[in-house]
Amino acid sequence: PVVTRFAPSPTGFLHIGGARTALFNLLFARHHGGKFLLRIEDTDRARSTEPAIAAILDGMRWLELDWDGEAVHQFSRAGRHAEVAQAMLAAGHAYKCFATAEELEAMRAEQRANKQPLRYDGRWRDRDASEAPEGAPFVIRLKAPREGSVTIEDKVQGSVTVNNSELDDMVLLRSDGTPTYMLAVVVDDHDMGVTHVIRGDDHLNNAFRQLPIYRAMDAIEGGWDDPIYAHIPLIFNADGTKMSKRKNAVAVDEYRDQLGLLPEAVSNYLLRLGWGHGDDEIISRDQAVEWFDLAGVGKSPSRFDIKKLENLNGHYIRAAEDSHLADLVAKRLPFETSESQSTLLTAAMPALKPRAANLNEIADGAMFLFRTRPLELDEGARTLLEGDAPSLLLRVHTALDAAGSWDTEALEAAVRTVADDAGVKLGAVAQPLRAALVGRKTSPGIFDVLALLGREESLGRIADQMT
Ligand code: GLU
Repeated sequence: PVVTRFAPSPTGFLHIGGARTALFNLLFARHHGGKFLLRIEDTDRARSTEPAIAAILDGMRWLELDWDGEAVHQFSRAGRHAEVAQAMLAAGHAYKCFATAEELEAMRAEQRANKQPLRYDGRWRDRDASEAPEGAPFVIRLKAPREGSVTIEDKVQGSVTVNNSELDDMVLLRSDGTPTYMLAVVVDDHDMGVTHVIRGDDHLNNAFRQLPIYRAMDAIEGGWDDPIYAHIPLIFNADGTKMSKRKNAVAVDEYRDQLGLLPEAVSNYLLRLGWGHGDDEIISRDQAVEWFDLAGVGKSPSRFDIKKLENLNGHYIRAAEDSHLADLVAKRLPFETSESQSTLLTAAMPALKPRAANLNEIADGAMFLFRTRPLELDEGARTLLEGDAPSLLLRVHTALDAAGSWDTEALEAAVRTVADDAGVKLGAVAQPLRAALVGRKTSPGIFDVLALLGREESLGRIADQMT
């Protein structure tokens, strides 16, 4: 059975690239009817605060990156990690290294001076612990193979080979008994039954350090099969530089809170960022589960295109249920909406949705519904209300007041008659009317605005500008 996992280190937010990694893991697992697990890599105790972890879970829930079972907290497994290091030590796949920090610094200084790669030279590899001073602190290092090479058949990167001579005997367990990242990841992935490691390609080099641990443990107790790797290219800024805060929002919550995007749109966009299925752009989660495979993941980094994301968002806004959308928009208004205001907001969605790229635009566009008389006019509206606008509005007021019913058809007929009688185009009437009703130069269709505001409020706002 397929088991994938997402293994974020808490940083205080869910990174947009991490969210894509999680999505790919989720889709791959669902596609194969397997499991998608979550592991919080909280071994950095200073950074791994409750709020930092909550921010990740919150972002995942928002994007419906629903993991199976309970999240595993890596730090709580430190005892198990140490146990594996001890097993490797006992079986001769690891050894104690008593080199002091000063000694290692001197070693590196020499390597630097000789322009050699900085690598632990294996000075304790063949020495016996009895050669160390009584009670001296030590780390446990992997006894890595020195000959030959390791080849990974990566599902995205293809076949990648590294010579073992390029890898040193890395530390598995620190002198204080805590595991290193390399050890913890391997032990956890094994114990969680992870079959496929799908992660950013910044971890490709780590795979060559992690595989020897699998192989050592497999030799010792069996059942530690190499996982299947898929290292996906990172996301870049539009200009080809590595995704950065300066050029894009990197935290998922910014896409929700500041940019006002829908989770369906962000999820759809992330899916298309590095994975493709023909020319399909709009892909539902169900469809994605059916179609997703690692073969469709491109090898070159994808560039983040906020315009594309906003276009997708526009699509999902138009597809969303009006009441659902109104609920989301209500949260962005500067006041608490009453029940009747919520109803009005829902009724306004068909008029507001068509042009909006995000929820902020809808919230902004909806504000006219809730303004109180006399309306505050912006610069553009004030200009539109100069000249003979007040007298035109007086005629509009009379015509609308006389309209039999307050539906868009009757309203349109009334306003058109005024324009015809005055010998002007409809726009010449609609413009000052809009300014009077909305206080701005732009709004949804003017007849929708009239219908939404209702008879009394509309006539009142018009009357306010007639003199
Ligand atoms: N915790 C690592 C990170 O956040 C990921 C480790 C992995 O996926 O193997 O970059």
